[in-house]
Amino acid sequence: MNGELRDLYQEVIIDHGRRPRNFRRLAEPSCTAEGFNPLCGDELRVELKLADGLIEDIAFQGAGCAIAMASASLMTQAVKGHSPEQALALFARVHELLTEGPSTLEAPEQLGKLAVLAGVWEFPVRVKCATLAWHTLRSALQGGAAPVTTE
Ligand code: ZN
Repeated sequence: MNGELRDLYQEVIIDHGRRPRNFRRLAEPSCTAEGFNPLCGDELRVELKLADGLIEDIAFQGAGCAIAMASASLMTQAVKGHSPEQALALFARVHELLTEGPSTLEAPEQLGKLAVLAGVWEFPVRVKCATLAWHTLRSALQGGAAPVTTE
């Protein structure tokens, strides 16, 4: 990772980790799910409001490390206004970025701010912190029956 992206990574993770966006509850969520990353102790609850086939609103609550909180914050911003299918497609690309590294990714600029999550790839133990919000999002979209765990 070049120095510029590393600086941006630290800036975005610290910013979103300290001041997570969409950190609240929804009044009447269409679906919710809870996720837990026992490796780190991150715990998240994701709530979605679906309307006209789109994620009209999304919020999360919980507690976790800076990477888990920042990733959840970035996730809510990235999927809001998109369809569940688009959100899951984005998850697939983020997952690829986190597990295979930035060099394998085609057109990383399409990921926008999420591209900074490439920085997590250099810390494999942190990958589950970064994917927790996304796994929880997927669970919510699929019904959210059982809490997800990254183990
Ligand atoms: Zn964590």
